Amino acid sequence: MRFDVVTIFPAMFGPVFAQGVVGRALERGLIELQAHDLREHTHDRHRQVDDMPFGGGPGMVMKPEPVIEAVESIRSLNRGPVILMEPWGEPLDQELAAGLAQQPGLVIVCGRYEGIDDRVRTALDAREISIGDYVLSGGELPAMVLIDAVARLLPGVVGDPGSLAQDTFSSEPAGWPQFTRPAEYRGMAVPDVLLSGDHARIRQWRRQQAAQRHVSHTKELKKT
Ligand code: SAH
Repeated sequence: MRFDVVTIFPAMFGPVFAQGVVGRALERGLIELQAHDLREHTHDRHRQVDDMPFGGGPGMVMKPEPVIEAVESIRSLNRGPVILMEPWGEPLDQELAAGLAQQPGLVIVCGRYEGIDDRVRTALDAREISIGDYVLSGGELPAMVLIDAVARLLPGVVGDPGSLAQDTFSSEPAGWPQFTRPAEYRGMAVPDVLLSGDHARIRQWRRQQAAQRHVSHTKELKKT
């Protein structure tokens, strides 16, 4: 799968994806990632990518022409859907990531300033995706979150496919408490059941713990 990102900060992507599971997938050619500098698609001396909002108000808005031309220049390499990272977009969850993992590629546009001229969405028939109800200063971190969530679902990216199956959100509540050696540390012992070798009991304990965790976090939300 091919990821093309349009951004004013292309250098942010190299270091993040040089390591870990996604870094290895890039090395092995399982995925391709290219960050394109939006400023390469400006035509003025100052390489300006933003301008004042029509109708007034604070801040600047990303101009439509550079974004649209940048995406058009990528189109012959990447026929996947165009995605604008925006805080008011569709919320990213595991199901949305799994759907996007079926695509041949993704073209992701990172906003900055007060957002992107709305004609970009119309002209490119783009989908808007948010990584949560809070505002960040740019779409680069959200794009990285999206790429990571999608890439690890692609065949061969995560070494042991069993890890994907047991992920939180996969089918039933997972995300049970995990422990590794030592069996006791500063007086804190690993639950006996995990040392019992009784796999049926272990499965049952994990299910129950995961369900409990799920409920307690939901309660935390209700409190606020
Ligand atoms: N003033 C705008 C915020 C713009 S934030 C508002 O109130 O909605 C600037 C850019 O950061 C956005 O264009 C988007 O690309 C990115 N961004 C910020 N928060 C985000 C989030 N939660 N999800 C996805 N993108 C986000």
